[in-house]
Amino acid sequence: MVDMKNVNVHYSSGVDALVDINLHINDGEFVFIVGESGAGKSTLMKLMMREITPSSGRVFVNGRNLGTLKGNKIAMFRRSIGVVFQEFRLIQDYTVYENVAFALRVADSSNKTIRQRVPYVLNLVELGPKAKHKVRELSGGEQQRVAIARALANDPGLLIVDEPTGNLDPKRSYELVGLLKEINRCGTTVIMITHEHELVRYFGGRIINLDKGSITFDEMMGGSDYYEE
Ligand code: ADP
Repeated sequence: MVDMKNVNVHYSSGVDALVDINLHINDGEFVFIVGESGAGKSTLMKLMMREITPSSGRVFVNGRNLGTLKGNKIAMFRRSIGVVFQEFRLIQDYTVYENVAFALRVADSSNKTIRQRVPYVLNLVELGPKAKHKVRELSGGEQQRVAIARALANDPGLLIVDEPTGNLDPKRSYELVGLLKEINRCGTTVIMITHEHELVRYFGGRIINLDKGSITFDEMMGGSDYYEE
């Protein structure tokens, strides 16, 4: 669950990145967040993962008031959500397996859990056969799936995916959303940030549009193709 009440983010540079945001996302939803570059999408994501706090207003995620979290509680909160960054932030010299295992290790998981969980999430993203490959040997699309597997390692209730603006080909984007829909069907709330309007029109669902820091559109839209059949 994500709940924002009268949220404003004012950067010290003088920019109002978000203006009076009121937003509620229920458990189990799949939401696209769209908007032009500079609209405030990344700022919204940073709020949800408690990388920043709002200048005013309140942000709740999974029942926690993020404004009141301190020190160790912030780290614990971050482990309870999964985030896929635009630039993936993987360890290039580690294998696929080690990248995912690392996320479990820092969360104090037992070796037994790691041995069970890593193959499970790698199979989910269809990267089981590449487990022993170094990340640097993988394509952009594969690296993105490693990042998703890592984000899912600790079985988060909420997955936030910031779509890479780089050179993933369009086919990959469609496959990515297909995979995220599958993950969502298994019960994880998914929030995907994207600038690809065509992709969003194709899949449909709840679409939130940001424009100059404000929500200008928040509705359910039918997709152009019924993907689930
Ligand atoms: P988007 O992700 O939609 O491209 P951002 O959230 O990155 O938008 O940015 C929203 C606005 O805030 C932009 O005008 C951007 O230049 C500004 N901005 C983003 N991050 C910072 C920052 N750390 N300091 C100052 N201004 C920022």
